[in-house]
Amino acid sequence: MAAIHMKNIVKQYGDGFPAVNDISIDVADGEFMILVGPSGCGKSTLLRMIVGLEDITSGDMLIDGKRVNDLAPRDRNLAMVFQNYALYPHLSVYENIAFPLRLARKLSESEIDDKVHEASRLLELDEHLQRKPGNLSGGQRQRVAMGRAIVRQADAFLFDEPLSNLDAKLRGQMRTEISRLQKRLGITTVYVTHDQTEAMTLGDRVAVLKRGLLQQLATPRELYTNPGNLFVAGFIGSPPMNFLPAQVDGTSVQLPFGTVELPPEKTAKATGKGLLIAGIRPEHFEDAGVKRDLGSGSTFRATVDVVEWLGNEAFAYIPFEAPPEMRAELAELARDLDSEALHTQLVVALDGSSRIAEGDEAEIWMDISKIHLFDPATGENLT
Ligand code: ATP
Repeated sequence: MAAIHMKNIVKQYGDGFPAVNDISIDVADGEFMILVGPSGCGKSTLLRMIVGLEDITSGDMLIDGKRVNDLAPRDRNLAMVFQNYALYPHLSVYENIAFPLRLARKLSESEIDDKVHEASRLLELDEHLQRKPGNLSGGQRQRVAMGRAIVRQADAFLFDEPLSNLDAKLRGQMRTEISRLQKRLGITTVYVTHDQTEAMTLGDRVAVLKRGLLQQLATPRELYTNPGNLFVAGFIGSPPMNFLPAQVDGTSVQLPFGTVELPPEKTAKATGKGLLIAGIRPEHFEDAGVKRDLGSGSTFRATVDVVEWLGNEAFAYIPFEAPPEMRAELAELARDLDSEALHTQLVVALDGSSRIAEGDEAEIWMDISKIHLFDPATGENLT
């Protein structure tokens, strides 16, 4: 096992903006690190630079304390688990796992046999050793691919979107499986995905990237509760955080549905900055008439356009008009986050027992302690 240190890593293809722009990330020994971001953000390029499949333009890549910039992939002792698992269809599970050991020609037949059996016990594949990959489930194939990495005693596992070809149900099962195995083996792992559910459920820590730049590196909980900027706030969470125009005056924050008073520490950095963007997650609203203690907050009345009832909860959609001077910024953010509705409607998550219906002028409660205020120019979270 090994720690991976990325120091000021840059990748420049041609003369456009860098695909990876001065990124520093330390992956601790045994840690599960996620690289997540939208298409083109540079996450695969960064992973390929760790493995050695891509040259590093500048910066230092260290594995287990050694600079590996100029080391060939085979000398880095890392195991890349690809999306299609790259198994040999004509070989049995046993032979697929034994393959890298045979290739290395360093071990005797009985040593190879011991290693394959040890890995297959760990991966619960011992009953399937004589089967061919074509007769295995997706989950079992994934385990065979990981078995090949284990017998080599690789220092780290690297995954590039391993689940993106699978249907939703299998993806869920495999996610749990990868998580269990990684914890059991305690092996350093870097995992690339564009899927925020995978990022949140698998990662000890998550690095969020956009256009080659590291936006935030934090635990899933920290990313969710304390997003560093507008992009992270909108990227993590489903349905996404609502973004509303907000005028801050002292500790008063004027929103499209009324004015709320925030504690002074929330507005200290925001006041006097003019028009800002307030961010509040759907679950921090509630039907004010729901029969449970909502705690302190603020209520407002608004006309509900659409209600989606899901049983345990309901989503209500409330249209609003952003002031003209803010529309361009909200529209750009919506484009970045691939969300059409971002700047035209509020989404609130209500308890399933709520009787709020389409067309109602409803009384909605809002947990004002959960409001974030963002600078529209820099995206920075000011709360
Ligand atoms: P995706 O999820 O779509 O694979 P990604 O976040 O993994 O995206 P990368 O594949 O790392 O992104 O690409 C980052 C940027 O670098 C993109 O703008 C891409 O077009 C560019 N890029 C990647 N590989 C090359 C290459 N070989 N030559 C030139 N540009 C490249």
